[in-house]
Amino acid sequence: MMAPGMIAGLAASLPEGRVVTDAAEVDRLSKDFYWYSPVLERQLRDKSGEVAVQPKSLEEVKAVLRYACANGIPVTVRGAGTGNYGQCIPIHGGIVLDMGGFDKVLEIRPDGTAVCEPGARMGMIETTARKAGWELRCYPSTVQKASIGGFLCGGSGGIGSITHGLIRDGLVISITILTMEPEPREIHLTGPDIFKALHAWGTTGVLVRVEFHLAPKLDWAQLAVSFDTFDRCFSFAEAVAQNDSFRKRLVTCFEWPVPRWFTPLLKWIEPGKALVFFEVVDDQLERLGRTAVSAGGRIVFDSPHAEPRRGAQLSDYTWNHTTLWALKGDPTLTYLQCGFDPKRAREQMHLLKTKFGDEFLFHIEFARSAGVVGPGSIPIIRFTTEERLQEIIDFCGQIGVGVANPHINHLEGSGRWRPDDAKLVAKTAHDPRGLLNPGKMIGFKPVSGSGPRPL
Ligand SMILES: Cc1cc2nc3c(=O)[nH]c(=O)nc-3n(C[C@H](O)[C@H](O)[C@H](O)COP(=O)(O)OP(=O)(O)OC[C@H]3O[C@@H](n4cnc5c(N)ncnc54)[C@H](O)[C@@H]3O)c2cc1C
Repeated sequence: MMAPGMIAGLAASLPEGRVVTDAAEVDRLSKDFYWYSPVLERQLRDKSGEVAVQPKSLEEVKAVLRYACANGIPVTVRGAGTGNYGQCIPIHGGIVLDMGGFDKVLEIRPDGTAVCEPGARMGMIETTARKAGWELRCYPSTVQKASIGGFLCGGSGGIGSITHGLIRDGLVISITILTMEPEPREIHLTGPDIFKALHAWGTTGVLVRVEFHLAPKLDWAQLAVSFDTFDRCFSFAEAVAQNDSFRKRLVTCFEWPVPRWFTPLLKWIEPGKALVFFEVVDDQLERLGRTAVSAGGRIVFDSPHAEPRRGAQLSDYTWNHTTLWALKGDPTLTYLQCGFDPKRAREQMHLLKTKFGDEFLFHIEFARSAGVVGPGSIPIIRFTTEERLQEIIDFCGQIGVGVANPHINHLEGSGRWRPDDAKLVAKTAHDPRGLLNPGKMIGFKPVSGSGPRPL
């Protein structure tokens, strides 16, 4: 618990109105979409910060960190709270640092780069960039809500990754973070040092400014094609994904019954059939449609991608939105995040289907990673017990399918820990007392001062 008087002391160090003390609101600001995982739901449902702070400037963020450091108070950073692994849920109370109001798009430059404050919404960045002739290289399916800071510190990739790669594939030019020290330092990260902050869940510093690449704006169209079998659907999706003559930003396919949970689309979805969604440049829509029909597909939906957005888009059913629709239809389901070996994907899928049948339903996202286009998967899993879930994860490992485990609430176990321990080294240097999102980097031990308050 924060000692009596600390909340008043914190408020006194900030302009009026920045501190939230209402318990229900603090609890709301302490949560994300952790409940996708029945394992995390059980572990994290009663975790909450004690107070939330909503800064609007760099100086205000510094004031919060200075106060927290002086008083040994944990600080957990929040963007928009759309993460899936409880990344922004404070395990040890303290301050929730809600960056949603520190949110300016500072520059869209003529060379196709952008500079933003951390709380800038991805949808706002996209709209602003498009007005200047540019667009985001990749964005999560939560684009309307998610912040750029949260995407870089908690996400992986999304719409656009089929062409431009994942976040880690050179999207970011520089990141400025603040350290958790008596006088917070501003550290400007470039080159490989960026990985000290990328996907670090706010454990190694507070991102306060980011500079990143955009792509030239294109006009996009959407296409949905049905196939009688998942095998034919996957083959067609893979062929388009790997054909660079199609300019695209989304290739997603689903085996039945996953599409049956897309309730607003049921008016055109064919029951029992596999389905593939594409976003391609507008002037290639017809060619893609013709190619799909000659491959045995049936076009069930096509339309321009509305810019600015009007109504639902096909991408609202892809990436981790697929899981959301499935969970709405059947709350006993859950998910995994898998990476197939592009050369063995069919064999690996066959092994999974033979072993697990409808317990493991394919939802495939094609993406470029380190320059290679391949199938990733966010499969829908029928949840029975934690032991059975672990058996499925273990089997994936045995057949060479990588799993970024979304049922684990620490960085080391979540599948994206880098062997160079760059994040651990950065944490030790930037947050020696371990006050930033404590508990999320289990290999870290406080190295100076008294550490966080007793937990
Ligand atoms: C329906 C649904 C669909 C999704 N689709 C995708 C997808 O397509 N691709 C994808 O990658 N992810 C996806 N996600 C996960 C999530 O939406 C994204 O990663 C999103 O970009 C997170 O942004 P956020 O602002 O909500 O971050 P938050 O959830 O608020 O934070 C994420 C992490 O970043 C840290 N953080 C936030 N801001 C800062 C900062 N300024 N400094 C330091 N650390 C910070 C937090 O502490 C937390 O650990 C999806 C989630 C849902 C629920």
